[in-house]
Amino acid sequence: MKRTSRDIRTANRYEVLRQIIAESPTSRQELAAATGLSLATVATLVGELLDLRMITEVGFEDSAGGRPRGLVAVNASGGALIGVDIAETYVHVELFDLALNVLARADEDMRPGESRPEQVVGHVATAVGSVVAQAGVEAARVLGVGVSVPGQVDRDTGVAEYAPNWDWHDVPLLDLLAEQIAYPLYLDNPLRACAVAELWFGAARGRGDAVVVNLGTGVGAGLALGGGLHRGVSNSAGEWGHTTLVLDGRLCHCGNHGCVETYVGAPGIMQNLRELSPQSPLLHPGDQTATIDALARAIGADDPVALKVVRDTARYLGAGISDLINLLNPEVVVLSSWVAARLGEPLLGEVRRAVARHALRRPLAATEIVLSPIPTDPVSLGAATFALEGALQSAGQRQGTTKRTTLARSRTAPPS
Ligand SMILES: [Zn+2]
Repeated sequence: MKRTSRDIRTANRYEVLRQIIAESPTSRQELAAATGLSLATVATLVGELLDLRMITEVGFEDSAGGRPRGLVAVNASGGALIGVDIAETYVHVELFDLALNVLARADEDMRPGESRPEQVVGHVATAVGSVVAQAGVEAARVLGVGVSVPGQVDRDTGVAEYAPNWDWHDVPLLDLLAEQIAYPLYLDNPLRACAVAELWFGAARGRGDAVVVNLGTGVGAGLALGGGLHRGVSNSAGEWGHTTLVLDGRLCHCGNHGCVETYVGAPGIMQNLRELSPQSPLLHPGDQTATIDALARAIGADDPVALKVVRDTARYLGAGISDLINLLNPEVVVLSSWVAARLGEPLLGEVRRAVARHALRRPLAATEIVLSPIPTDPVSLGAATFALEGALQSAGQRQGTTKRTTLARSRTAPPS
């Protein structure tokens, strides 16, 4: 795919804004150092962001001997962004200011079997309406809604191409949402969303190569390689959940047998429990959330069955994560999403032990395995950054080839 000068310019503008959001207040000199862009390019991009009222001038700092440096900061009230996390069992929506502080949250539970596109769209529309009302922001200030939906998505057409857990094929999700939601909409999936969230605010910040293991109903690996998001040629990189862990193993929704997901996704963990103790009171048939919650509480009480289930799950996870470590040699592996958050430290400890048995020693020594440190829902946060990226892109298209014609050169160094 050919990148036009406008694409590069939009990417550079996004990168500068990202640095300002991460480190406000900051100077043009610091931004140039952090992004690898020239000072002249940064000055131009900062000027554009000031025009868009996404950032503001906030005074000066002394520079030893030289002229005082002008400082800029993100203009938190310059707009609102909405992040939508559609999962198999819930819809979670957050509204953020431009500094990506959460201003409002809304949740909708989805009952088992409630997975028709129009049902899901109804929940999303309700929750989006709720966060806008709670935060009391004017509709005109909402810059966009980023939507994360499980499975493979086409970002350009807004089509959910394939969601195995719902048996969705080519659902025009963005068009369906646009019938009920008046804001600009941007679609991607939770692997991308949680990887961006870690890159901006979490354990992958300032790191070159990171793998974000997303443990929910479905399972996958968000990849941040070379300091940026790795999408692959058709935006489906990271479908690690559908790599084969056990030959002729459990049947997966994708049609194959023995996929990673069938052993470590929430339904897979339920199956691990069922095989160990079919009559266990921890088992809530048909209700993954209740079962994982019961397991988490039982671990806290040192229940031997619960501890064994976590160890068994971690054995599968450890083998799968070792593959990722051997393949990608990442600096950090982050365990993210609701199952990882609920099972927490006990799962992390068992995973570290299991990985140590499988991964090669050199890449293992260079890798840290951690739980996501992001205090809010990483998928909503990441989805909101997609809306921010989209808003900058459409602002760039509106501006077109107006007064500022300096071409931004492409980034030569990853951001720190
Ligand atoms: Zn599969």
